[in-house]
Amino acid sequence: LTKERNKNDYQVFKKSLTEGFKERLHLETELHKALKNKDFELYFQPQIDIKQDEIIGLEALCRWNHIDKGIIPPNQFIPLAEQTGLIVELGDWVIREACRQNKMWQDMGFPKVKVSVNLSAKQFLQRDLVSNIAEILANTGLESEYLELEITESMAMTNEKYIIETLKGFQTLGVNVALDDFGTGYSSLKYLSQFPLSKLKIDRLFIQNRTEQNIAIVKTIIHLSHSLNLKVIAEGVENEEDLMFLNNENCDEVQGFYFSKPLPVSEVNGFFNKKLS
Ligand code: C2E
Ligand code: MG
Ligand code: MG
Ligand code: MG
Repeated sequence: LTKERNKNDYQVFKKSLTEGFKERLHLETELHKALKNKDFELYFQPQIDIKQDEIIGLEALCRWNHIDKGIIPPNQFIPLAEQTGLIVELGDWVIREACRQNKMWQDMGFPKVKVSVNLSAKQFLQRDLVSNIAEILANTGLESEYLELEITESMAMTNEKYIIETLKGFQTLGVNVALDDFGTGYSSLKYLSQFPLSKLKIDRLFIQNRTEQNIAIVKTIIHLSHSLNLKVIAEGVENEEDLMFLNNENCDEVQGFYFSKPLPVSEVNGFFNKKLS
């Protein structure tokens, strides 16, 4: 009986492996097509300055508009794009589109805010990333202070020497860099002080699960940021209690569903107008 069961388990396992592979291959082909057809869309989530109570930034978050499957969230295609190298082309499109759109909002007379763009590891290691971004800024006409790049700890902590060079390139350009999902990776405090960063982004894990330990961690990250002359933003602010807590702890900025979900372009206009009136 046991033998029989093992055999069955193996059959199931084998089948799911093959199907998983096929599914992946299929998705990869689709991703190629989507890139060619420009089937991607940026959503934007407002970032709020707590003290001023005003919008100071928009994080650009990529969506895939699939003909049959509808809107596919980034965690379902970014990892594959990263593995296949397609992320470099996709990422270039994201930066370009985010800058173009932000410049357009500015030209429409909306208050000037930063647009934040997430970089992937492979993208960050591209030799020509800094010059590419300089070219994008020149072409879209967006001033560099209105672009911010988000990198994660793991990206920053490997290949440190090279990373510092790239970060210095951004600094020279006048583009700010934020460390995303802070607290979930492996940061060396030594590099944190050496890297030309402008902001730490506290991962929403610590905001949404406020255990005694996590509260202590949030307080420490806010202190650390301010000691290093960095701004600090918290993600995943979903209700008034979250906001009160962060305000009490002197956090500079917040982002989360309490203020707004990531919005398609047409609804960002509405968000700006609501805030203006
Ligand atoms: P992230 O950069 O940490 O972005 C924040 C994520 O948290 C977004 O998910 C956002 O919708 C979600 N979020 C914001 N506020 C709340 C909240 O109050 N509660 C909860 N539960 N969630 C909240 P999204 O858009 O699904 O993106 C997931 C991740 O995919 C991003 O995490 C980022 O790492 C990656 N990503 C998105 N767009 C891009 C892109 O253009 N390039 C790269 N390389 N990565 C991207
Ligand atoms: Mg981010
Ligand atoms: Mg984040
Ligand atoms: Mg996150």
